[in-house]
Amino acid sequence: MSVNFKDFCGYLAEIYQDLQLNKSGKVASYIPELKKVNPEQFAISVCTTDGQQFSVGDYKARFCMQSMVKPVLYALALEENGLSHVHKHVGREPSGKNFNELTLNDEGLPHNPMINAGAIMSCSMIKRKANPASKFNHIMKALHELSNSQKITFNNAVYNSEKDTADRNYALGYFMREHHAFPKNTDLHQTLNLYFQACSIELNTEVLSVIAAGFANAGSCPLTRREVFKPETTKNCLSLMYSCGMYDYSGEWAFSIGLPAKSGVSGGIYVVVPDRMGIAIYSPRLDKHGNSLRAIEVCKRLVEKYNLHNYDSILRCPNKINLFP
Ligand code: GLN
Repeated sequence: MSVNFKDFCGYLAEIYQDLQLNKSGKVASYIPELKKVNPEQFAISVCTTDGQQFSVGDYKARFCMQSMVKPVLYALALEENGLSHVHKHVGREPSGKNFNELTLNDEGLPHNPMINAGAIMSCSMIKRKANPASKFNHIMKALHELSNSQKITFNNAVYNSEKDTADRNYALGYFMREHHAFPKNTDLHQTLNLYFQACSIELNTEVLSVIAAGFANAGSCPLTRREVFKPETTKNCLSLMYSCGMYDYSGEWAFSIGLPAKSGVSGGIYVVVPDRMGIAIYSPRLDKHGNSLRAIEVCKRLVEKYNLHNYDSILRCPNKINLFP
């Protein structure tokens, strides 16, 4: 049995109604600005690789990308420096630790680009010779092009809050410098600053779902067809999102949901269904790993009903529905 896009959207709207009643979890409090958000906000957006879109709930509500920007930072570092150079400075193993744990792998490198240390490392490899403004613009340009939207902005209050309470990220930076992990001549403060700025970029689920669909579409915007990342770069990003994208829940996520995804402590998650679509969910209450509780629940319900898990195909599940074949 297969489903058309309209029926799929109908099911998303049903899930949305059901999960509004779920009030468990806690809003992130590690920086003052994030504590202030309205915990009731909830939105789901989807964009297919052929450009069909649907949203339900607070899909215009803006939230900061936080860790959701990490795949984009990694992709930009790869495009500019190539795979082998990037991985001289960052590994690709799950760390098995918290996203901001003060730890490096046996070679003195961050475990992977999806945790803080690794994302700070990606920042050190973006537009190395450019001034801070051009580096930041370079990240924004990629996001604007991938989403075909100018509705991506910068939240200065979050940035200041982030920078003023960043002892752990500074510690990670110095720890990596002590281990000579950075490329030669890296300016640590500029690098950290770029990381704080990138975390403070704001968007809504409608825009984020198009970015996710861009990843599903081999790095090209699904609305304009313009290539932003090479297919090879996109594949590498998706591989690490699959194994390391959901904090310390990544193994369980890969097992039970079976799709590449990235979450952020602001309460957003985006999920990539390769060659099919991107889904973005926002709800600020988090579980103990830092993942949005309702967003995880949305994904569980989708995978229960549709043939979405990476390995569902080998089961030829008679009770699951195929997505718009
Ligand atoms: N800006 C956050 C930090 O560096 C990112 C956290 C996250 O979303 N996991 O701690």
